[in-house]
Amino acid sequence: MEPYTPARRVLVAKPRGYCAGVDRAVEAVEKALDQYGAPIYVRKQIVHNTHVVRTLEARGAIFVEETEEVPEGAIVVFSAHGVAPSVHDEAAARQLRTVDATCPLVTKVHNEAKRFAAKDYDILLIGHEGHEEVEGTAGEAPEHIQLVDGLDGVDQVSVRDPNRVVWLSQTTLSVDETTETVSRLRERFPNLIDPPSDDICYATSNRQAAVKQIAAESQLVIVVGSGNSSNSKRLVEVAKDYGAAASYLVDDASFIQDEWLDGVGTVGVTSGASVPEELVDGVLRRLAEHGFTDVEEVETVKESMRFALPHELRRDLRASSAS
Ligand code: SF4
Repeated sequence: MEPYTPARRVLVAKPRGYCAGVDRAVEAVEKALDQYGAPIYVRKQIVHNTHVVRTLEARGAIFVEETEEVPEGAIVVFSAHGVAPSVHDEAAARQLRTVDATCPLVTKVHNEAKRFAAKDYDILLIGHEGHEEVEGTAGEAPEHIQLVDGLDGVDQVSVRDPNRVVWLSQTTLSVDETTETVSRLRERFPNLIDPPSDDICYATSNRQAAVKQIAAESQLVIVVGSGNSSNSKRLVEVAKDYGAAASYLVDDASFIQDEWLDGVGTVGVTSGASVPEELVDGVLRRLAEHGFTDVEEVETVKESMRFALPHELRRDLRASSAS
């Protein structure tokens, strides 16, 4: 009698991969290279994905940590994660020409921070210490903002007036964990004010909702994404919380270990908001080599969000096409 071989199935979450903010930021660097020529400097990784960074480097982008590494007068692109006002000031002092690829949904959080700081509120910013987005947002009003890094951070918070406290958040957090952190904060500050609209962005929450859907039916969930990508790491946690026995983050197919697939009948696949689809295709090809040929896409919500390129770039592109 033939040994029993379980049906090998792949459930692919949708939406997955590029969000509107990443798409815009990557296109901004590509268009800047076309418009101004190489090299184009980019402060920090334009988006948190190793492959995207390498591809842009091959086209002539130079990634730097700080504006002081950019030669005076050169062009520098600010990443999708946003920058503090002090970074704009430093760039101006060095006479750099800037293209600001900050995601508009990050800018929205910056604007909320400025508005509440102007009204002298204490702002509790839920986010991960050291993340670029958090540094940028906190830099808008450092004297008003305290970072709350998850549940453990709640007890350390101290405010001037418990009736004038608002919470804001990083855009790429776990929706469930943030809800928990906020209710813990509200136990301490019952009059805590909510942000005017969700700070966790549509792409983060949609990708988490989609992975929840496939995790329940998958023994293993593979999340394509880089180790420094906050939203990708959250997808691994959510997959485990929602029923997957195991979940791993992989930069690409070469990171998949054969033993992960032993005895597995259904593998779930998704990718973070900064991941090009070709990397998911590579994972599906690798899985097919192991007999996972029954591939089904599970769509939880349709996305149609698009953002226009940064205005300074659009202006120069328009001027070139007119001349
Ligand atoms: S994950 Fe959300 S906030 Fe970040 S770039 Fe994408 S759309 Fe913008």
